[in-house]
Amino acid sequence: MDTEARRTLQISNHSRDSAGLTYVYPVVSRRAGGISVGINFNPNNACNWRCLYCQVPELRRGAAPELDLETLEAELAGLLEQIDTREFYRQFEVPTSHQQLRDIAISGNGEPTTLKAFDHAIETIARVLNDLPITLNIAKVIISNGSMLHRPAVRAGLSRWQEIGGELWFKLDRATHEGIRKINGIAISPRQIMENLAIAADLCPVRIQTCLFSFDGQPPAPHECQAYFDFLEMALQQGIPIEEVMLYGLARPSMQPEATRLGTVSREWMRDFVQNLGSLGLAVRLTP
Ligand code: SF4
Repeated sequence: MDTEARRTLQISNHSRDSAGLTYVYPVVSRRAGGISVGINFNPNNACNWRCLYCQVPELRRGAAPELDLETLEAELAGLLEQIDTREFYRQFEVPTSHQQLRDIAISGNGEPTTLKAFDHAIETIARVLNDLPITLNIAKVIISNGSMLHRPAVRAGLSRWQEIGGELWFKLDRATHEGIRKINGIAISPRQIMENLAIAADLCPVRIQTCLFSFDGQPPAPHECQAYFDFLEMALQQGIPIEEVMLYGLARPSMQPEATRLGTVSREWMRDFVQNLGSLGLAVRLTP
């Protein structure tokens, strides 16, 4: 699940399921200090990757199912109206300190860009936001592994997303064939990831998201770290604009069979990693 990047605190009586919606889920986000509206294109728990730290239960290999655009529109418009009228806060007893809509994130139980009608779904979301009586000055994020940029529908959707002020959080955990295969469970080359990153950044503002953890007690190997730094340096040399690199640990447990083999890296290790990244001239954000 890409929500590892969001660090949310679900309020007790309205989890994604109990809200009773198919595609839209509200969370009270400690990170954002308010409400995040999540959009899940993958209610079937399917992703084309299989990351060791993925938080999706019963994750299976595959793509997002066909999406009912009318339902998406109705759910999103309905939830935003409930938030606007404050009915949502009353119903779910949201603390006053968190009674503020902070962001909308396409972040679900799988890779959102595997949705065939991705462009139509983005257009639907754009229309809902456009039809609101007020302009929402909030972050709009797609959290993605960035692997489907070859599809015209994904490119069109990202381009539209950028028009409404959206950005893409692009997953980069490793930059060697071996490391990507081990951590992300996919045979994709670093070169292909670079091409995808270049396409994405051409269409939409991009932040890199990286999950760092130990495996069997060992932090990422030095040669893996070096390959990662080299990859980002090369991206910068190629003129690919990267807004920021966001580093995450394992604040929420993996739901994959390898979960017990994963652990946190030491503070010292993380500090050195951040310093190396900073020396490339990249903005770095460390999320606890
Ligand atoms: S890209 Fe990885 S973390 Fe994200 S949903 Fe797929 S398997 Fe899970």
